[in-house]
Amino acid sequence: MPTIIAVSKTFSIDKIQPLISYGHLHYGENKVQEAIEKWSDIKKNSPEIQLHMIGKLQSNKVKFAIKLFDFIHSVDNKKLMKKISDAQKEFNKKIQVFLQVNIGNESQKSGIKEDNIQEFISYSEELNLNLLGLMCIPPADKDPIIFFEKMNTLNKKFGFKELSMGMSSDYLKASENFSTYLRIGSSIFGQRY
Ligand SMILES: *Cc1c(COP(=O)(O)O)cnc(C)c1O
Repeated sequence: MPTIIAVSKTFSIDKIQPLISYGHLHYGENKVQEAIEKWSDIKKNSPEIQLHMIGKLQSNKVKFAIKLFDFIHSVDNKKLMKKISDAQKEFNKKIQVFLQVNIGNESQKSGIKEDNIQEFISYSEELNLNLLGLMCIPPADKDPIIFFEKMNTLNKKFGFKELSMGMSSDYLKASENFSTYLRIGSSIFGQRY
């Protein structure tokens, strides 16, 4: 069974609280500042809650991110990797990361190129990062299946056990292609404005 990350970005804690009370443990945010404001106190009282950074992470926010989050899904450049490695040492905390792959080769999208995956894996080994697997956001205007199949193949080829893909619109297709972390927002919390 894949783990469901309840993507709570833009929603206030009073909207998220019922899910926390129910016992759900995994939540996703895409902005460091918003996550600090919403989750710092909750994490102190409920350290079992797992926070996932799923949005673009600026290097100058890495220290804050390392202190708060348990996972980063959006690792896509070497400068960021080095900062994560340094911050992990500084705070003596190891977090779990995914490499974001620009699987549709879209110019406006974040993520590394498929051809560079091996190079990034080698660098993450050099830095002693805890790399769990690959992550993607497929192109919005195409059937995601071919991209999910490709991601599953790549993930297995590189020997990873975890795979982060699937959102509200496509999580069933992602599950069928062996995603292990579904990032679901609007289907849980409603439409974002
Ligand atoms: C917002 C977001 C999601 C969730 O999107 P929904 O369509 O609301 O499920 C998943 N992944 C990332 C990277 C996001 O930014």
